[in-house]
Amino acid sequence: MTKKRSGKGKHIPQRTCVGCRQVLAKQEMTRIVATADGVRVDLTGKKNGRGAYLHNLKACWQKGINGSLSTSLRRELSSEDRERLLTFLEMLPK
Ligand SMILES: [Zn+2]
Repeated sequence: MTKKRSGKGKHIPQRTCVGCRQVLAKQEMTRIVATADGVRVDLTGKKNGRGAYLHNLKACWQKGINGSLSTSLRRELSSEDRERLLTFLEMLPK
């Protein structure tokens, strides 16, 4: 039996964007996490809590903020959460 070797044998972690449902390498995405003090953008990717991933694109964040994030995180977004996410969205490319 021969085992097929792919690439350099490095495993690239992949995640599903909750905005467009595409599966992508983790590096192209931002993690959002539901913490005790609200829904936060997790730039370290290491915060504890239920997480969801979004593509670094405005359109995907908009979809996320409009509903799919709260479904994935099983948490209603508060107005503060929304504001925080929208502030982040403003810095993203279209
Ligand atoms: Zn996306």
